[in-house]
Amino acid sequence: MLLTTSVGSFPKPDYLIKARSRFRKKEIGQQELRRLEEQSTREWIARQEDLGIDILVDGEQYRGDMATYFAENLEGFAISSLVRSYGNRYYRKPVVIGPIRRKRPITIEWFKFAQGLTKKPVKGMLTGPYTIMDWSFNEHYPNRRAVALAIARVIHDEAKDLERAGATYIQIDEPALSTRTEEIDLAIEAMKICTQGLRAKTITHICYGDFAAIYPKMLKLAVDQIDLEFANRKFELLATFKKPRFTKEVGLGVVDVHSHRTESKEEVIGNIEQALKVFKPEQIYVDPDCGLKTRTVDEAVDKLRVIVEAAREVRSRLGTKHSVHSTSLSTDPERAKRVEGSALSTKARRLVNSR
Ligand SMILES: [Zn+2]
Repeated sequence: MLLTTSVGSFPKPDYLIKARSRFRKKEIGQQELRRLEEQSTREWIARQEDLGIDILVDGEQYRGDMATYFAENLEGFAISSLVRSYGNRYYRKPVVIGPIRRKRPITIEWFKFAQGLTKKPVKGMLTGPYTIMDWSFNEHYPNRRAVALAIARVIHDEAKDLERAGATYIQIDEPALSTRTEEIDLAIEAMKICTQGLRAKTITHICYGDFAAIYPKMLKLAVDQIDLEFANRKFELLATFKKPRFTKEVGLGVVDVHSHRTESKEEVIGNIEQALKVFKPEQIYVDPDCGLKTRTVDEAVDKLRVIVEAAREVRSRLGTKHSVHSTSLSTDPERAKRVEGSALSTKARRLVNSR
Protein backbone atom coordinates (compact mmCIF):
# COMPACT_ATOMS: atom_id res chain seq x y z
CA MET A 1 0.00 0.00 0.00
CA LEU A 2 0.96 3.65 -0.55
CA LEU A 3 3.32 2.70 -3.38
CA THR A 4 5.32 5.61 -4.74
CA THR A 5 5.57 6.59 -8.38
CA SER A 6 5.80 9.57 -10.76
CA VAL A 7 3.35 11.07 -13.22
CA GLY A 8 5.64 10.85 -16.25
CA SER A 9 8.10 13.52 -17.28
CA PHE A 10 11.34 14.49 -15.55
CA PRO A 11 13.53 17.50 -16.33
CA LYS A 12 16.11 17.13 -19.04
CA PRO A 13 19.70 17.76 -17.94
CA ASP A 14 21.55 20.74 -19.48
CA TYR A 15 23.61 18.57 -21.81
CA LEU A 16 20.42 17.13 -23.32
CA ILE A 17 18.71 20.52 -23.70
CA LYS A 18 21.82 21.74 -25.54
CA ALA A 19 21.96 18.59 -27.66
CA ARG A 20 18.29 18.96 -28.66
CA SER A 21 18.87 22.51 -29.79
CA ARG A 22 22.04 21.53 -31.70
CA PHE A 23 20.12 18.67 -33.32
CA ARG A 24 17.45 21.13 -34.54
CA LYS A 25 20.21 23.25 -36.05
CA LYS A 26 21.63 20.08 -37.65
CA GLU A 27 24.91 20.43 -35.76
CA ILE A 28 24.67 16.89 -34.41
CA GLY A 29 23.01 13.79 -35.86
CA GLN A 30 20.22 11.51 -34.67
CA GLN A 31 22.72 8.98 -33.31
CA GLU A 32 24.49 11.45 -31.04
CA LEU A 33 21.16 12.81 -29.75
CA ARG A 34 19.94 9.27 -29.07
CA ARG A 35 23.14 8.47 -27.16
CA LEU A 36 22.55 11.42 -24.83
CA GLU A 37 18.83 10.64 -24.41
CA GLU A 38 19.83 7.13 -23.35
CA GLN A 39 22.43 8.50 -20.95
CA SER A 40 19.95 10.76 -19.20
CA THR A 41 17.28 8.01 -19.14
CA ARG A 42 19.86 5.78 -17.44
CA GLU A 43 20.56 8.55 -14.91
CA TRP A 44 16.85 8.96 -14.12
CA ILE A 45 16.31 5.23 -13.64
CA ALA A 46 19.32 5.12 -11.30
CA ARG A 47 18.09 8.16 -9.33
CA GLN A 48 14.62 6.63 -8.86
CA GLU A 49 16.18 3.35 -7.73
CA ASP A 50 18.47 5.16 -5.27
CA LEU A 51 15.51 7.06 -3.86
CA GLY A 52 13.51 3.86 -3.45
CA ILE A 53 10.56 4.73 -5.73
CA ASP A 54 8.35 1.65 -6.25
CA ILE A 55 7.03 2.13 -9.79
CA LEU A 56 9.41 3.93 -12.14
CA VAL A 57 8.98 6.02 -15.28
CA ASP A 58 11.50 6.56 -18.08
CA GLY A 59 11.23 10.33 -17.59
CA GLU A 60 10.39 11.06 -21.27
CA GLN A 61 13.82 12.46 -22.03
CA TYR A 62 13.29 11.87 -25.75
CA ARG A 63 9.90 13.62 -25.96
CA GLY A 64 9.04 17.25 -26.55
CA ASP A 65 5.34 18.07 -26.24
CA MET A 66 3.27 15.11 -25.07
CA ALA A 67 0.65 15.34 -27.83
CA THR A 68 2.96 16.35 -30.66
CA TYR A 69 5.32 13.46 -29.88
CA PHE A 70 2.58 10.95 -30.75
CA ALA A 71 1.30 12.95 -33.74
CA GLU A 72 4.81 13.05 -35.20
CA ASN A 73 4.91 9.29 -35.09
CA LEU A 74 1.47 8.65 -36.60
CA GLU A 75 0.26 8.68 -40.19
CA GLY A 76 -2.41 11.28 -40.93
CA PHE A 77 -0.81 14.14 -39.01
CA ALA A 78 1.21 17.12 -40.15
CA ILE A 79 2.89 19.43 -37.64
CA SER A 80 2.26 23.19 -37.68
CA SER A 81 4.77 25.91 -36.92
CA LEU A 82 5.05 27.11 -33.32
CA VAL A 83 1.73 27.94 -31.63
CA ARG A 84 1.46 29.67 -28.27
CA SER A 85 -0.47 27.81 -25.59
CA TYR A 86 -0.89 28.95 -22.00
CA GLY A 87 1.70 31.30 -20.54
CA ASN A 88 4.93 31.34 -22.44
CA ARG A 89 4.72 27.80 -23.64
CA TYR A 90 5.08 27.29 -27.38
CA TYR A 91 4.60 24.05 -29.18
CA ARG A 92 4.16 22.70 -32.66
CA LYS A 93 0.50 21.92 -32.99
CA PRO A 94 -0.46 18.71 -34.80
CA VAL A 95 -2.85 18.99 -37.76
CA VAL A 96 -4.97 16.00 -38.79
CA ILE A 97 -4.77 15.87 -42.58
CA GLY A 98 -5.74 12.26 -43.36
CA PRO A 99 -6.79 8.92 -41.86
CA ILE A 100 -4.91 8.33 -38.60
CA ARG A 101 -2.85 5.14 -38.61
CA ARG A 102 0.09 3.78 -36.66
CA LYS A 103 2.99 3.07 -38.98
CA ARG A 104 4.98 1.24 -36.30
CA PRO A 105 5.15 1.01 -32.50
CA ILE A 106 5.96 4.41 -31.00
CA THR A 107 7.09 3.97 -27.39
CA ILE A 108 8.01 0.28 -27.24
CA GLU A 109 11.72 0.59 -27.92
CA TRP A 110 12.13 3.20 -25.16
CA PHE A 111 10.00 1.17 -22.78
CA LYS A 112 12.20 -1.88 -23.32
CA PHE A 113 15.34 0.20 -22.90
CA ALA A 114 14.17 1.66 -19.57
CA GLN A 115 12.72 -1.60 -18.27
CA GLY A 116 15.98 -3.32 -19.17
CA LEU A 117 17.80 -1.07 -16.68
CA THR A 118 15.83 -2.08 -13.59
CA LYS A 119 14.03 -4.95 -11.91
CA LYS A 120 11.31 -2.61 -10.66
CA PRO A 121 8.28 -2.07 -12.88
CA VAL A 122 8.49 0.82 -15.37
CA LYS A 123 5.20 2.38 -16.45
CA GLY A 124 4.26 2.47 -20.11
CA MET A 125 3.36 6.12 -20.80
CA LEU A 126 0.88 7.17 -23.47
CA THR A 127 -1.05 10.34 -24.21
CA GLY A 128 -4.80 9.87 -24.35
CA PRO A 129 -6.89 10.22 -27.51
CA TYR A 130 -9.06 13.00 -26.13
CA THR A 131 -6.01 15.14 -25.36
CA ILE A 132 -4.24 14.50 -28.67
CA MET A 133 -7.49 15.41 -30.46
CA ASP A 134 -8.09 18.52 -28.36
CA TRP A 135 -4.57 19.82 -28.87
CA SER A 136 -4.66 19.29 -32.66
CA PHE A 137 -6.31 21.07 -35.58
CA ASN A 138 -8.65 18.84 -37.58
CA GLU A 139 -8.79 19.20 -41.35
CA HIS A 140 -9.87 15.67 -42.21
CA TYR A 141 -12.55 14.07 -39.99
CA PRO A 142 -16.17 15.33 -39.84
CA ASN A 143 -16.09 16.11 -36.10
CA ARG A 144 -14.10 15.94 -32.85
CA ARG A 145 -15.58 12.59 -31.89
CA ALA A 146 -14.39 10.95 -35.10
CA VAL A 147 -10.86 12.26 -34.51
CA ALA A 148 -10.78 11.09 -30.88
CA LEU A 149 -12.04 7.61 -31.71
CA ALA A 150 -9.56 7.19 -34.57
CA ILE A 151 -6.72 8.12 -32.20
CA ALA A 152 -8.15 5.80 -29.53
CA ARG A 153 -7.75 2.83 -31.86
CA VAL A 154 -4.05 3.49 -32.45
CA ILE A 155 -3.41 4.16 -28.76
CA HIS A 156 -5.10 0.82 -28.03
CA ASP A 157 -2.69 -0.93 -30.42
CA GLU A 158 0.24 0.83 -28.76
CA ALA A 159 -1.00 -0.19 -25.29
CA LYS A 160 -1.30 -3.82 -26.42
CA ASP A 161 2.27 -3.68 -27.69
CA LEU A 162 3.45 -2.22 -24.37
CA GLU A 163 1.75 -5.07 -22.56
CA ARG A 164 3.38 -7.62 -24.86
CA ALA A 165 6.73 -5.96 -24.15
CA GLY A 166 6.18 -6.58 -20.43
CA ALA A 167 4.50 -3.43 -19.11
CA THR A 168 2.40 -4.18 -16.02
CA TYR A 169 1.34 -0.54 -15.57
CA ILE A 170 0.07 1.49 -18.51
CA GLN A 171 -0.78 5.14 -18.05
CA ILE A 172 -2.86 7.00 -20.65
CA ASP A 173 -2.91 10.69 -19.77
CA GLU A 174 -5.83 13.01 -20.42
CA PRO A 175 -4.71 16.43 -19.13
CA ALA A 176 -6.98 18.22 -21.63
CA LEU A 177 -10.04 16.90 -19.86
CA SER A 178 -9.39 19.28 -16.98
CA THR A 179 -10.34 22.30 -19.10
CA ARG A 180 -13.09 20.64 -21.15
CA THR A 181 -15.26 18.85 -18.65
CA GLU A 182 -18.30 19.20 -20.98
CA GLU A 183 -16.74 16.55 -23.22
CA ILE A 184 -16.33 13.94 -20.48
CA ASP A 185 -18.64 11.51 -22.36
CA LEU A 186 -16.37 11.56 -25.38
CA ALA A 187 -13.27 11.06 -23.22
CA ILE A 188 -14.98 8.07 -21.56
CA GLU A 189 -15.96 6.56 -24.92
CA ALA A 190 -12.41 6.96 -26.26
CA MET A 191 -10.71 5.58 -23.13
CA LYS A 192 -12.88 2.47 -23.30
CA ILE A 193 -11.39 1.68 -26.70
CA CYS A 194 -7.82 2.32 -25.47
CA THR A 195 -7.90 -0.06 -22.51
CA GLN A 196 -10.15 -2.78 -23.91
CA GLY A 197 -8.77 -6.25 -23.18
CA LEU A 198 -5.67 -5.05 -21.30
CA ARG A 199 -4.50 -7.06 -18.31
CA ALA A 200 -1.97 -4.47 -17.15
CA LYS A 201 -3.00 -2.01 -14.47
CA THR A 202 -4.31 1.07 -16.26
CA ILE A 203 -4.03 4.65 -15.08
CA THR A 204 -5.02 8.05 -16.37
CA HIS A 205 -3.69 11.41 -15.18
CA ILE A 206 -5.90 14.49 -15.40
CA CYS A 207 -4.53 17.91 -14.46
CA TYR A 208 -6.35 20.11 -11.97
CA GLY A 209 -9.83 21.10 -13.10
CA ASP A 210 -13.48 21.42 -12.15
CA PHE A 211 -13.96 17.88 -10.90
CA ALA A 212 -17.19 18.76 -9.10
CA ALA A 213 -18.66 19.09 -12.62
CA ILE A 214 -17.68 15.56 -13.69
CA TYR A 215 -17.83 13.64 -10.42
CA PRO A 216 -18.89 10.85 -10.04
CA LYS A 217 -19.20 10.45 -13.83
CA MET A 218 -15.40 10.49 -14.20
CA LEU A 219 -15.33 7.12 -12.41
CA LYS A 220 -16.66 5.67 -15.68
CA LEU A 221 -13.26 6.21 -17.31
CA ALA A 222 -12.17 2.64 -18.13
CA VAL A 223 -9.01 2.62 -16.02
CA ASP A 224 -8.04 1.12 -12.66
CA GLN A 225 -6.55 4.33 -11.31
CA ILE A 226 -7.14 8.06 -11.73
CA ASP A 227 -4.12 10.19 -10.94
CA LEU A 228 -4.86 13.74 -9.78
CA GLU A 229 -3.25 16.95 -8.57
CA PHE A 230 -4.15 17.49 -4.94
CA ALA A 231 -1.23 19.47 -3.50
CA ASN A 232 -1.49 22.67 -5.52
CA ARG A 233 -5.02 23.31 -4.22
CA LYS A 234 -4.27 22.27 -0.67
CA PHE A 235 -6.29 19.06 -0.97
CA GLU A 236 -9.59 20.93 -1.48
CA LEU A 237 -10.42 18.25 -4.03
CA LEU A 238 -10.87 15.67 -1.29
CA ALA A 239 -14.25 17.17 -0.37
CA THR A 240 -15.60 16.33 -3.84
CA PHE A 241 -14.63 12.67 -3.52
CA LYS A 242 -16.18 12.05 -0.12
CA LYS A 243 -19.60 11.24 -1.54
CA PRO A 244 -20.28 9.04 -3.34
CA ARG A 245 -17.29 6.85 -2.52
CA PHE A 246 -14.33 7.04 -4.95
CA THR A 247 -14.37 3.51 -6.38
CA LYS A 248 -11.02 3.39 -8.18
CA GLU A 249 -7.43 3.60 -7.07
CA VAL A 250 -6.18 7.14 -6.77
CA GLY A 251 -2.83 8.57 -7.81
CA LEU A 252 -2.37 11.10 -5.03
CA GLY A 253 -0.37 14.18 -6.01
CA VAL A 254 1.27 15.25 -2.74
CA VAL A 255 3.80 17.86 -3.90
CA ASP A 256 3.23 20.94 -6.06
CA VAL A 257 5.17 20.69 -9.33
CA HIS A 258 4.82 24.41 -10.05
CA SER A 259 6.69 25.50 -6.94
CA HIS A 260 10.48 25.64 -6.52
CA ARG A 261 10.11 25.05 -2.82
CA THR A 262 10.52 21.48 -1.63
CA GLU A 263 7.76 20.50 0.76
CA SER A 264 8.81 19.24 4.18
CA LYS A 265 8.37 15.60 5.08
CA GLU A 266 5.84 16.56 7.79
CA GLU A 267 3.80 18.51 5.25
CA VAL A 268 3.64 15.53 2.88
CA ILE A 269 2.82 13.14 5.73
CA GLY A 270 -0.02 15.52 6.64
CA ASN A 271 -1.23 15.44 3.03
CA ILE A 272 -1.29 11.65 2.93
CA GLU A 273 -3.07 11.47 6.28
CA GLN A 274 -5.75 13.89 5.06
CA ALA A 275 -6.30 11.67 2.05
CA LEU A 276 -6.61 8.61 4.29
CA LYS A 277 -9.82 10.15 5.65
CA VAL A 278 -11.37 9.70 2.20
CA PHE A 279 -9.47 6.81 0.59
CA LYS A 280 -8.36 3.43 1.91
CA PRO A 281 -4.58 2.92 2.14
CA GLU A 282 -4.74 0.19 -0.53
CA GLN A 283 -6.41 2.67 -2.91
CA ILE A 284 -3.59 5.21 -2.76
CA TYR A 285 -0.47 5.56 -4.93
CA VAL A 286 1.69 8.50 -3.86
CA ASP A 287 3.30 10.77 -6.45
CA PRO A 288 3.95 14.40 -7.43
CA ASP A 289 0.96 16.43 -8.70
CA CYS A 290 2.01 16.25 -12.33
CA GLY A 291 5.09 15.74 -14.53
CA LEU A 292 8.21 17.28 -12.99
CA LYS A 293 9.74 18.44 -16.27
CA THR A 294 9.47 22.14 -15.41
CA ARG A 295 11.62 21.78 -12.28
CA THR A 296 15.41 21.54 -12.19
CA VAL A 297 16.96 18.09 -11.81
CA ASP A 298 17.84 18.86 -8.16
CA GLU A 299 14.36 20.18 -7.33
CA ALA A 300 12.75 17.12 -8.90
CA VAL A 301 15.00 14.75 -6.93
CA ASP A 302 14.32 16.63 -3.67
CA LYS A 303 10.57 16.45 -4.19
CA LEU A 304 10.74 12.72 -5.01
CA ARG A 305 12.88 12.08 -1.91
CA VAL A 306 10.32 13.75 0.36
CA ILE A 307 7.53 11.67 -1.23
CA VAL A 308 9.38 8.39 -0.59
CA GLU A 309 10.27 9.32 3.01
CA ALA A 310 6.76 10.50 3.84
CA ALA A 311 5.05 7.47 2.29
CA ARG A 312 7.44 5.17 4.15
CA GLU A 313 6.63 6.83 7.44
CA VAL A 314 2.86 6.72 6.96
CA ARG A 315 3.13 3.09 5.85
CA SER A 316 4.98 2.19 9.01
CA ARG A 317 2.55 4.13 11.20
CA LEU A 318 -0.30 2.15 9.63
CA GLY A 319 1.44 -1.17 9.36
CA THR A 320 4.23 -1.84 11.90
CA LYS A 321 2.04 -3.04 14.72
CA HIS A 322 0.16 -5.19 12.24
CA SER A 323 3.22 -7.12 11.12
CA VAL A 324 4.65 -7.54 14.64
CA HIS A 325 1.45 -9.10 15.95
CA SER A 326 0.69 -11.27 12.98
CA THR A 327 4.11 -12.95 13.22
CA SER A 328 4.08 -13.36 16.98
CA LEU A 329 0.60 -14.87 16.98
CA SER A 330 0.79 -16.88 13.79
CA THR A 331 -0.29 -20.11 15.52
CA ASP A 332 -3.67 -18.67 16.41
CA PRO A 333 -5.00 -16.77 13.41
CA GLU A 334 -8.34 -15.88 15.00
CA ARG A 335 -6.70 -14.36 18.01
CA ALA A 336 -4.10 -12.64 15.85
CA LYS A 337 -6.90 -10.90 13.99
CA ARG A 338 -8.47 -9.60 17.19
CA VAL A 339 -5.18 -8.34 18.54
CA GLU A 340 -4.25 -6.72 15.24
CA GLY A 341 -7.36 -4.58 15.44
CA SER A 342 -6.70 -3.41 18.96
CA ALA A 343 -3.00 -2.85 18.29
CA LEU A 344 -3.54 -0.10 15.75
CA SER A 345 -2.14 3.17 17.02
CA THR A 346 -4.74 5.69 18.11
CA LYS A 347 -3.94 7.81 15.10
CA ALA A 348 -4.21 4.93 12.65
CA ARG A 349 -7.46 3.80 14.24
CA ARG A 350 -8.84 7.31 13.97
CA LEU A 351 -7.94 7.33 10.29
CA VAL A 352 -9.50 3.96 9.68
CA ASN A 353 -12.67 4.86 11.57
CA SER A 354 -13.13 8.21 9.90
CA ARG A 355 -13.40 6.62 6.46
ZN1 LIG B 1 -1.11 17.35 -14.59
